[in-house]
Amino acid sequence: TSDTLDGDVALVTGASSGIGAATARSLADEGAAVALAARREERLEELAEEIESAGGEALVVPTDATDESQVRGMVEETVEQLGGLDVLVNNAGVMLLEPIADADPDNWQQMLDLNVQGLMVASQAALGHMQEKGAGDIVNLSSVAGRKAYAGSGGYNASKFGVTAFSEALRQEVVDSDIRVTTIEPGAVDTELAEHIPDEDQKEQIEGMMDEMEPLRPEDIARSIRFAVTQPSHVDINELLIRPTRQE
Ligand code: NDP
Repeated sequence: TSDTLDGDVALVTGASSGIGAATARSLADEGAAVALAARREERLEELAEEIESAGGEALVVPTDATDESQVRGMVEETVEQLGGLDVLVNNAGVMLLEPIADADPDNWQQMLDLNVQGLMVASQAALGHMQEKGAGDIVNLSSVAGRKAYAGSGGYNASKFGVTAFSEALRQEVVDSDIRVTTIEPGAVDTELAEHIPDEDQKEQIEGMMDEMEPLRPEDIARSIRFAVTQPSHVDINELLIRPTRQE
């Protein structure tokens, strides 16, 4: 893909809220037909209507990204209905912060299944189509927590370090094509992410941090993703680390 997304197809996971919804809007605004994936179908329908009434094209693909066959189906449906796949944004994720000693291993599993395995399977499924064309963009949502570990964040850190590592390995494997891989590493963004934190202390800490400074907005991350995928084809923005100006 090149400077504009006119005629391109983008698939965004976790498009029912936060960064994913903002990214879908932004890529549609840049001219892409967008496939919207997440579990909450009603939210996706609302967003699709909004995009279509602004003159864009959107497809709703209800998906549980922890289910391998649903993830493969999501990619196939996008290709069939929209005619290809040029940009995959692996954004769906959960942040279930808990100190290790007290953590519920099911929460670790959920983060690994969604944040890592779902993203890896989606990347693999998209790769087949992109390799046929010799071009495409895979954008993976890691985090500051994919570069820096924190007490209370062990499981989430493990998942996001995993995303960063997988993305770099993938980048090297497709280096003889115009397929680009980009890792996005946001700091604090004001979304629904913190609502699901099981540990009350961790939740309060994150909410306190959000209150003390001006966090990023989902649109700030969407703008960075748009920047990366609209570069000329010989430019791969490998990694973007984006913190609120006042985040330590
Ligand atoms: P939100 O909670 O607003 O969005 C998360 C999205 O993931 C939702 O659309 C949700 O949709 C989707 N999702 C959750 N579980 C599943 C599932 N099993 N299958 C499919 N989709 C699922 O959070 P953000 O927008 O903040 O998060 C987006 C990404 O950004 C995540 O990967 C997160 O780790 C990363 N990030 C966020 C930061 C922040 O401060 N907010 C900082 C750094 C990284 P639904 O529930 O409808 O399925």
